[in-house]
Amino acid sequence: MTRYSLDLSFEEFKESLSPDDLLTTVPGLYFSPRSGRVLIVEPESASWLVVSQNELGLLVERGLLAPGSVTRASQKLTDLQAGLGPELLIELERWLYRLFIRNMLAINGYGYHQPTRLWSVQKYPHYFNLHLTESCNLSCRYCRVGDSPAASSMMPVDICQKIIRRVIEEIPGTKIIIGFHGGEPLLNPECLVEGSKYAREVARSAGKEITLSLQTNGILLQKYSQLLKELNVEIGVSLDGPAVIHDRHRVFSSGRGSFDRVMAGIQAARQAGLNPGYLAVIHDPNDYLSVAGFMVETLGATSFRLNFSCYEGRAKSELDFDPGRAAAFARNWLQLVDFVLEHHRRTGVWLSIDDLNLFVAHLLTRDRPHMCYRSPCGAGNAILGFGSDGKIYPCEELVGKEQFCLGDINAASTLDRLLDESQALARVSESRKVENVAHCASCPWRRFHGAGCLNKSFEYFGDLEHGDPMCHFYRVVFEELMWRLADNPELINLISYYKKYIRVQNEWPT
Ligand code: SF4
Ligand code: SF4
Repeated sequence: MTRYSLDLSFEEFKESLSPDDLLTTVPGLYFSPRSGRVLIVEPESASWLVVSQNELGLLVERGLLAPGSVTRASQKLTDLQAGLGPELLIELERWLYRLFIRNMLAINGYGYHQPTRLWSVQKYPHYFNLHLTESCNLSCRYCRVGDSPAASSMMPVDICQKIIRRVIEEIPGTKIIIGFHGGEPLLNPECLVEGSKYAREVARSAGKEITLSLQTNGILLQKYSQLLKELNVEIGVSLDGPAVIHDRHRVFSSGRGSFDRVMAGIQAARQAGLNPGYLAVIHDPNDYLSVAGFMVETLGATSFRLNFSCYEGRAKSELDFDPGRAAAFARNWLQLVDFVLEHHRRTGVWLSIDDLNLFVAHLLTRDRPHMCYRSPCGAGNAILGFGSDGKIYPCEELVGKEQFCLGDINAASTLDRLLDESQALARVSESRKVENVAHCASCPWRRFHGAGCLNKSFEYFGDLEHGDPMCHFYRVVFEELMWRLADNPELINLISYYKKYIRVQNEWPT
């Protein structure tokens, strides 16, 4: 037996077995017992399985599986089969198949998935995030940028156009996303207009497909929605939920809440024919359900993103970050699963909540469609960030941090060469591979989570050598989602729009 197709059927597997085959369980399996069942995880290939203790009995009895033991067990197929009647033989083969296609078992030293071929990342970015300004007209308490509108922090039109031309012409790839960010990007409408028109023109002549998007706090949407519609720019609006929650942190410099202005902006955007995406930042985990309810009932949204607040920028001094917060976040975040199920029962509609949709996808496929959960993450290989001064960074979140600066749009050699030759980028990427982050190297969830955000490690721990400050959250939610999916296969529908980016593999449905 040498090679298997990744669609290996049970029949093909059975036919390929021979009595002399040596079956070996792989090292490092994670076993988690619960109420007469066991969750087994094979971390390196991100495979998992929930089985009853009884079902496992045969394999344990015959010495092939040893829950809780770190040693690997080997048995010849013929020894495993000795003395079994026809029914038990078939049962045994089914179990061997299930374990084999989950990489929990190697046959003659050969595993079904080759880890070296599983976790490749893209070579060149497709998403280019431009800070049109570092200024903002709000002073949100968790923001990472400053709040004094300084003219010098506006990106000049010629820099904006140079970035756009060079990313389109110099980075290989046919699909490009330009994201206008800040600060508040609508404070620099000239750049938005001239950059958008220019981007379409250059993309057309380069034969590339381009998407333009803008993330806004919504304050200026009443003024600019019509313009955004004409420019065909997709928009995302930051809105933290109902007024009582939103106004706690999303405030003007006077301290006044911005809820009413943002809602008026959203209304203007809709009237102009835009279809905004919504992003809420959650600082108090008890707010998850209220915010989700607001998104659905008040805004009529069926797709939205809920991020938790991070220890960075102004948040470091203005907000509390309780060391035990990750556990509370996990507990409350998991209630979203029931929220989505209940909504589906009432309306027949599956909500799409980022990253709940993505994490369910991670349990069903080895594709990692979102750059932040790859190893190394997408910094410099899926995204580049550009400061308003034209400086180039591996990620939007790193813009302005000199130690991560890769170059300058005015000085750099071609952008593909800059990325190929940058020692700084190579060092950062190498250090963020999950096997090189000491805290994550033997974590059962390492290939589901991917070691977390390098910027968050840098902000919280002061270096790139740590896992995610919210590590405990990920440890809890991936395991809980596995149990829930095993009990309720209908939860596969939570994947929602990620379905189009992934290929669910032959382990599913169980
Ligand atoms: S941050 Fe935590 S959960 Fe994520 S891979 Fe590292 S150890 Fe595992
Ligand atoms: S640095 Fe953080 S935000 Fe940027 S791509 Fe990596 S994980 Fe994502």
